[in-house]
Amino acid sequence: MSTKGIVLRAVNVGESDKMLTILTQDLGVVSAYSNGARNLKSKNFASSRLYTYSELTFRETRGKTYIGESAPIESFFGIGKTLDGSALASYISEVACDVAVEGQPEQELLQLVLNSLFCISDSTKPIWQIKSVFELRCASILGFMPDMVGCKVCGKSGFDNVWFDIDDGCYYCEDCFKNSQLEYETEKVDEMSGIYGKHNVLVPISKSVFEAIRFVIYSKPERIMSFNLKDETIKDFCSVCEKYLLSHLERNFVSLDFYHSVVSMIKN
Ligand SMILES: [Zn+2]
Repeated sequence: MSTKGIVLRAVNVGESDKMLTILTQDLGVVSAYSNGARNLKSKNFASSRLYTYSELTFRETRGKTYIGESAPIESFFGIGKTLDGSALASYISEVACDVAVEGQPEQELLQLVLNSLFCISDSTKPIWQIKSVFELRCASILGFMPDMVGCKVCGKSGFDNVWFDIDDGCYYCEDCFKNSQLEYETEKVDEMSGIYGKHNVLVPISKSVFEAIRFVIYSKPERIMSFNLKDETIKDFCSVCEKYLLSHLERNFVSLDFYHSVVSMIKN
């Protein structure tokens, strides 16, 4: 059976082989050897490169999976052009490999990864936007889509400022929040340290951030990057999206720490 998939991890093994982790449309995440993949003459040379999207077949031999036939579709060569783009691509890869299931179709996740990598490679959107959209949308695909239709208590909508409940994926209006005994985030959490594992976090968000969240979770896949945010609200949006994904996955990622160190290095 042939499927389509993108190489999200490539490790050299032996003299000329590679061990690949591939996110596929029909088989979820697949770990497969690519024999002779580092040899220019190999028929699978191009398809075995990191971030190459291909049509593929697999074969099983003595309990191991190998790439059979392959035909590259897209290579995303532009990813390597910038440090922050490369760092973001490895974070996206680490998350996708972590959440994708083996042997189960992952069409939505694959589409999100391809869309994100395309935007990085072609520099069509700012890096912060690609990262945040990926995080929020990824959480939604995994079943954690927040309910942004109305306040959790009174059901009303159209507020200027609301309290977003990261853990429950819902929001409270100012009045319902004041009337409740809910705890909220008192100190600004350092971006670098992440907040995974911290529960019942409520963060105040402005109308623009609220609208951006709504847009990302409710838009069609091909539209998710098509919005703008005012400069002063970008930081809040990024922080909420990152917290949202990490808190639902209950873990942190080495590649995310690396991404933050790269971004702060570029700024300084
Ligand atoms: Zn309310």
